[in-house]
Amino acid sequence: MKNIISIIISLLFLQCTSSFMERNDPKTILQSNEWTVYNAIHFNLYYRPDSRASKRIDSVVTIQEKGFIEIHKKLHQPIISDKINFFIFNSLEDKINITNHRSDAHAISSYNSVYYVDNPELSNVFGLHEVSHIIVHKTIGLGAAGPFKLFTNEGLAVWTEDKWGKLPLYDYYKKKFNENDICEPIEFIDKYDKTDSLKNVYGAWGAFTKYLIDNYGIDKFIILHKTGNDKNGFKNIYGISVEEANEQFLVFIKNRIDPATRME
Ligand SMILES: [Zn+2]
Repeated sequence: MKNIISIIISLLFLQCTSSFMERNDPKTILQSNEWTVYNAIHFNLYYRPDSRASKRIDSVVTIQEKGFIEIHKKLHQPIISDKINFFIFNSLEDKINITNHRSDAHAISSYNSVYYVDNPELSNVFGLHEVSHIIVHKTIGLGAAGPFKLFTNEGLAVWTEDKWGKLPLYDYYKKKFNENDICEPIEFIDKYDKTDSLKNVYGAWGAFTKYLIDNYGIDKFIILHKTGNDKNGFKNIYGISVEEANEQFLVFIKNRIDPATRME
């Protein structure tokens, strides 16, 4: 017993003094905590014994394996060979204690790892956002430094799920647009370093990404991600300025029939 206590104390000490990356290293996490392991085809999933996640792990695996293949297809990329480490923490406190990252979910592509809080309301362990970040980074890269970097990264991650909140992306943007509760794509691309009201911004980025991909193709968007590090880069790729693309997108949204009145 004494040994166990001293090990726990030294591990806590280690966590306090380690860098963020060390704390998020799968080796560190697996050494210092109790996990159940599920080796799936493209994932190694780690979750707490007897946790809520342990009771629905089969559904998580089914959704993630299916999403994994779909994301590669949507991106027109060959399937990555390395397995993704998929950590599921019991609570936000559990995740912060171990990773020092205050969020429901994050991804670190150099570790091929995603880190989730098993949140029953968000059901985010069923989402593909973080896995999408890993696949984008491993297949087409981290993105060119510049004003489009955060937009193309988050835009692709949101687009691969094709929804924000519970709504399909265009419906989400139209609803928020009608409620005067969302900015124009160009506004936030210009202010890419401002992180206020990120939730709506991500939905808007996703909808604009979907518009660009639906109308100009995934290959052009990938070139934007890889090389479009200024507004001239955008114009060279798309043949129109980002301001013109923004206007086209808004006209498309305004003309789109409201989902509430649409028959499908
Ligand atoms: Zn993201």
